[in-house]
Amino acid sequence: MQFYIQTFGCQMNENDSRLLASLLQSNGYTEVDAPEKAGVIIINTCCVRENAENKALGYLGSIKKLYEEDRSRIIVICGCMMQQKGMAETIKSKYRYVKIIMGTFSASRLPEYIAEVSATGRSIIDVEEHYDGTELKHTCATVEEALDGDYKAQVNISYGCNNFCSYCIVPYVRGRERSRSAADILEEIQLLAEYGVKEVQLLGQNVNSYGKDLPEEQACDFAALLAQVCQVPGIQRVRYMTSHPRDFSRHLVDVIQENPKVCRHFHLPLQAGCDELLQRMNRGYTTAYYGELLSYIRSRVPDAVVTTDLIVGFPGETEEQFRQTLDFIRECRFDAAYTFIYSQRSGTPAAKMPEQIPEDVKKDRLQRLMDVQNEISLEHNRQMLGKIYEVMVEGLSKNNKSMLSGRTEGNKIVVFPAPEDEELHPGDCLKVRITGAHTWNLEGELVSSFESVCETEC
Ligand code: SF4
Repeated sequence: MQFYIQTFGCQMNENDSRLLASLLQSNGYTEVDAPEKAGVIIINTCCVRENAENKALGYLGSIKKLYEEDRSRIIVICGCMMQQKGMAETIKSKYRYVKIIMGTFSASRLPEYIAEVSATGRSIIDVEEHYDGTELKHTCATVEEALDGDYKAQVNISYGCNNFCSYCIVPYVRGRERSRSAADILEEIQLLAEYGVKEVQLLGQNVNSYGKDLPEEQACDFAALLAQVCQVPGIQRVRYMTSHPRDFSRHLVDVIQENPKVCRHFHLPLQAGCDELLQRMNRGYTTAYYGELLSYIRSRVPDAVVTTDLIVGFPGETEEQFRQTLDFIRECRFDAAYTFIYSQRSGTPAAKMPEQIPEDVKKDRLQRLMDVQNEISLEHNRQMLGKIYEVMVEGLSKNNKSMLSGRTEGNKIVVFPAPEDEELHPGDCLKVRITGAHTWNLEGELVSSFESVCETEC
């Protein structure tokens, strides 16, 4: 049978979809590139922002005609949106053509659910919380399909979150934090490395609190895990996402500084540059704490690239408080910021707060915030002009097929001409001199093949 997956939401969802696809492929299914070609259509949803939720529901409505054309088609909806209170019942009653409704805890059961629906025609709903160690991961049976020749991969190290930031729905839909054992994670990364993976990204809602829930005999914290991942033969770069500033210890910064394989990219979500807002967001730190952490990072890792997440229009945010955020980001001088308009998520404390901010005010603040940050980002990138960086090739540039595109350790995109006399592949490491700087990317020229330089020097 052929299947098609449509994904909404964050990197974690993208990774889940990839793992789901490889799981189905290892069970004899074939992935296709359009829903019309598929016997099974899977919609992987996200409820972190209203926009992603609306898009998923719109998409679900749009594929009704495909079901009507062929009623043997199995429509599956999964992901964190299905864990929301009452959502599964709403889907069941409004979209009767959906055959399988699964939450985030039962994704690995999809092949057996499809088989059951095919055999019986009955619908299945499974949105219960399971903690039975069956979460999706790369296995010997699925790794080849999942990678499809790629040189980088993402690995979940923990699921769920205990933080309850007042605007965030994640702890309610993905459950409390569960860390995988270091042995299990390392086994997965060793497997990936054997299949040619050079760069691994460790994923968790809050990687810095990794291990706090592990039993004593498996004790391991995030710093220790990072150091062990760096020891896996074949792994050249290690990234991680996402950090919580409150749990980012000085010790972790030191471990990163001592392990050159850990990329010098610190993504440290700030969310707001005003203490009163941070308190109402339940973030657990102040701007003074954040500033000190940032200074420590920059003193220990002088080439650190620091990026952040920011929310505008949190309930009750005054113009004065918003200006404090603008002032604080000028002080912090982030390399880049992912900026978001506050999205009211039903079931979270912030959704019930009075003084929700009008949309036009939110949009205006977002634009002003981006204007300030874009200027700082451009200044950072201009400071890179003329310098040489290690760049890992990703492939051809999307906009110009005669150019290659790659990333620095700091996660900055560099576009440079492909050499005429050498065939380069995704995952190759090169030395590139920066010749052009823009807000979101850089241009460069090849200096030499980094790997061959290392070989000569060795
Ligand atoms: S740390 Fe806060 S924002 Fe991040 S997933 Fe947990 S509750 Fe949500």
